[in-house]
Amino acid sequence: MSARPTSPEQGARAEIVVDLAAIRHNVRRLRELTRAADRSGPKMMTVVKADGYGHGMHEVARAAREAGADWIGVATIDEAVALRDGHDRGRVLCWLGVPGEDYASAIERDIDVTASSLDQLREIARAAEQQGTTARVQLKIDTGLSRSGCTSVDWPALTTAARDAEQAGHVRVTGIWSHLACADEPEHPANDRQEQVFRDALAVVEETGLTPEVRHLANSAASVLRPSVHFDMVRCGIASYGLDPAPGVTEDLGLVPAMTLQARLSLVKRLAAGESVSYGHRWTAEQETTLGLVPAGYGEGLPRAASNRAEVWFNGKRRPIRGTLCMDQFVIDLGDDHATPGEVVELFGTGHDGAVTAQDWAEVVGTINYEIVTQIGGRLSRRHVDSEAGAS
Ligand SMILES: *Cc1c(COP(=O)(O)O)cnc(C)c1O
Repeated sequence: MSARPTSPEQGARAEIVVDLAAIRHNVRRLRELTRAADRSGPKMMTVVKADGYGHGMHEVARAAREAGADWIGVATIDEAVALRDGHDRGRVLCWLGVPGEDYASAIERDIDVTASSLDQLREIARAAEQQGTTARVQLKIDTGLSRSGCTSVDWPALTTAARDAEQAGHVRVTGIWSHLACADEPEHPANDRQEQVFRDALAVVEETGLTPEVRHLANSAASVLRPSVHFDMVRCGIASYGLDPAPGVTEDLGLVPAMTLQARLSLVKRLAAGESVSYGHRWTAEQETTLGLVPAGYGEGLPRAASNRAEVWFNGKRRPIRGTLCMDQFVIDLGDDHATPGEVVELFGTGHDGAVTAQDWAEVVGTINYEIVTQIGGRLSRRHVDSEAGAS
């Protein structure tokens, strides 16, 4: 499957096109990949935080559910509440809060929330008690990422308090989970250590008498690289969008990038040899050439560090960016090829025919593909299409 978006909507200067068929394909493909490893197969959580990594949280969640995602994961309560208000009815987990967080709005919407500490557990239990309901809570153990999560030292106290709150009817502990630091480096010794700490934490949970529905540790990279940490569920973010969770490590996973960024050439002109381009004159033409002006820049979330480095796809070839990428626009080198204003440039997309991908942009600016797609936005319009069903 490698759908190509249609050309921009009439009049669109520059736009993000997201193929929901690619999202569905990737969710199904990840399910296949994780089932190959252990036959029963873990449940699938699709992670749609940060507006679905820039792809549109609601649309991605809907496509993922259609493809069989059992859970949707987001970072904040606000995101989870927005999903419910957008009519998502399945299981939803969120995991990042601050004191005073509006747990009540999550509890009344049947959202599973996370407790990483005794204080958080108490706040959640109190909110449920005030509502006269039971909160669904998942306990997070810090197995070595040292970000959120409860330390192993405090774990027995947290699990005991959770059991007491469960017996009092204020909470139901639905899950136990953690997050890996180095899942994209399968040989890194931290993986073994974190897996062991997680198993030890699960033993404590069992001794305490808690009976969680789901135990989960794997992100996208671990889902495809480390079957021993699948447990009951995997949490797939980046791979659901068709991007490689561990570039250079994984084999071809058969995923399809869902986001294409395209723009229409604003202007085409000849540049004489010796002339220089854009702010700071950081590129000078050695010979006469044709320049195309692309009307998107760091105001649309493109990295300025791509100046003089990244390439785009135009008329069947990669074309280099020349000079500084500006707030609203940048310039590409078309050599002696013919081009007309209004023609479509693909900044990145599925990688069809060797075209440019978000991964390519990430590599030239020294970041990860996550950051490229998540930052894209600003003034761009975003259009969701369904290459299996016609435009939606
Ligand atoms: C973002 C996130 C994920 C998804 O990670 P990917 O690498 O995008 O698959 C999973 N779990 C947690 C806790 C996260 O914050």
